[in-house]
Amino acid sequence: MLERIRIVLIGTSHPGNIGATARAMHNMGLSDLALVAPRCEPLTADSIARASGADHLLHAAQIHASLEAAVGDCTLAVGASARSRTLPWPMLTPRELGARLPEELAGSDTRVALVFGREDSGLTNAELQRCHAHVHIPTNADFASLNLATAVQVLAYECRLAWLAGEGANAPSDEEPPSLASHAELERYFEHLERTLIAIGFHDPATPRQLMARLRRFTLRARPERLEINILRGILSATEQQAEAHRDDDAGK
Ligand code: SAH
Repeated sequence: MLERIRIVLIGTSHPGNIGATARAMHNMGLSDLALVAPRCEPLTADSIARASGADHLLHAAQIHASLEAAVGDCTLAVGASARSRTLPWPMLTPRELGARLPEELAGSDTRVALVFGREDSGLTNAELQRCHAHVHIPTNADFASLNLATAVQVLAYECRLAWLAGEGANAPSDEEPPSLASHAELERYFEHLERTLIAIGFHDPATPRQLMARLRRFTLRARPERLEINILRGILSATEQQAEAHRDDDAGK
């Protein structure tokens, strides 16, 4: 289970935090580190020193240009944030996140991403809206923001506790659970949905009124299976064809 949990750091600016993250991960048995557009060199004397022997994770870290590329193969993405947002997203406590992991990671093609923000400005709303849920580590409301690697440590610890609790529990059944849509499949669906809603005149990108964000929240809450997303995309394609046929009819009149 632990090897299918990816720690994703976006726009990190201090090599020491990347090193300390590698140490926190290796302490808890996690190994999959991804860096999105880091704002510093990840392999420095400082990062290697702070990794204190976990620098193999730094050497193996994948570097991506975008969040989409880093989590495209993940079936669940959870964004860690110290701040609440104007359009609230499903919230999890670190303990609730841990409790979900054994089931989330039961299928062999499942992968979970835990996404962390920049030291100075955290995660943007758009980045958080690409995640299924938000996890908030309960902290002093007057001093809410933890050091990046400390936040990774807390969540990695909860992952480990959940894994330890599951070790002695019932062996998972032989039956593969249905395949959930991956992040990349969901993003393609959202693009298709937006295109169709514009084509049928339901959505005006000039006055978006959070429509796509609300549809995103609704869809991500449902945890759609791959098959279900394929059905929805089939409906969108048929809708587009009908709209086009009507336009042609109108043009012919
Ligand atoms: N100043 C930033 C916070 C940066 S801390 C802000 O205003 O958002 C760096 C990252 O650590 C955050 O983006 C988040 O991913 C994680 N983090 C820090 N404190 C956290 C908390 N209390 N709960 C969840 N994540 C937290």
